[in-house]
Amino acid sequence: MNIDPISARWLQQRLLRWYHTHGRKTLPWKKPLSPYRVWISEIMLQQTQVSTVTGYFKQFIRAFPTVEKLAQAPLEAVLSHWAGLGYYARARNIHKTAKIIQQDYANQLPACLETLTSFPGIGRSTAGAILSMGFNLSAPILDGNVKRVLCRLHCVEGPPDDRAVQTTLWQLAEHYTPKQNAADFTQAIMDLGATCCTKANPSCQLCPLQTKCEAFSRGEQLDYPHKKASKKIPHRETHLLYVSTQNEILLQQRPQKGIWGGLYSLPEFGDTEEIQQFLENILKTKRGIKPLTPVKHTFTHFHLLLKPYALTLAKTTTLDHLALHWIKKSALAKIGLPAPIKKLLE
Ligand code: SF4
Repeated sequence: MNIDPISARWLQQRLLRWYHTHGRKTLPWKKPLSPYRVWISEIMLQQTQVSTVTGYFKQFIRAFPTVEKLAQAPLEAVLSHWAGLGYYARARNIHKTAKIIQQDYANQLPACLETLTSFPGIGRSTAGAILSMGFNLSAPILDGNVKRVLCRLHCVEGPPDDRAVQTTLWQLAEHYTPKQNAADFTQAIMDLGATCCTKANPSCQLCPLQTKCEAFSRGEQLDYPHKKASKKIPHRETHLLYVSTQNEILLQQRPQKGIWGGLYSLPEFGDTEEIQQFLENILKTKRGIKPLTPVKHTFTHFHLLLKPYALTLAKTTTLDHLALHWIKKSALAKIGLPAPIKKLLE
């Protein structure tokens, strides 16, 4: 490591003392803590704010209280409980992993870093969180909050996702993680990053690590972690067809792989000409469509403009396309719909 770490004992003591007074002890996955609950909450928190995850977590755990119940549930039901959280690959991976744990590990998450990281969707940091918070074993984690604290504490140069910077950060995280009481320590460092060493407005005056924080001593807290060079996000657009009868809506189940994999969505087209061909060939109608207000949605890698067109039919038609389904409007809440499509249908 090309950085001089602070005494691990000093940091652990300061942090744990702070945690006992200021830690977030009421988050739903902390009561009670279990490897399963830590795993689900960590996956949900990967790309989503705590305030959003809280409600989804409670609902998810109510529906799937154990690995066994999750493994036995159809993917459809899991996706429907995930709808709104986005990044659906996370839900598909959770389901795949639950099946592996059910079949090969008697429904118990294994307390082993190598095994956990071999499961779909579990990286080293998530495995570290499961081991330390779920099993109280000494295992470092490196989520966004911990990266920020370590980068500021040591003025680590370079974006945290660079390979060399990652190596340094893992070494620091390992150095500071105690052999005993790892669950509280992990919670403490995550909570410090989430509530005190925040991105835009760190409360350095209240921070237990302030006297040894390099960024604070230089007055450069907001310069760390370094940002990676930003890329321009491309714009794309798609045309959606909203065909309905009094009680049903025509939906298409998306392929399992790719964006919104496995969820139900409105049939998608490149342009209005394709829509007209579809209406003539599949729905056997020559009726015109009415444009609705477009909706913008931003993914990590691109902006998408959804242009919907509506058509109302007197009754449903027979469909021989496997992915197309007439869905009762009353059943929409029970199926997995991507958030922007749900918004549009509402
Ligand atoms: Fe973060 Fe400020 Fe504490 Fe340094 S002193 S770790 S910048 S809150």
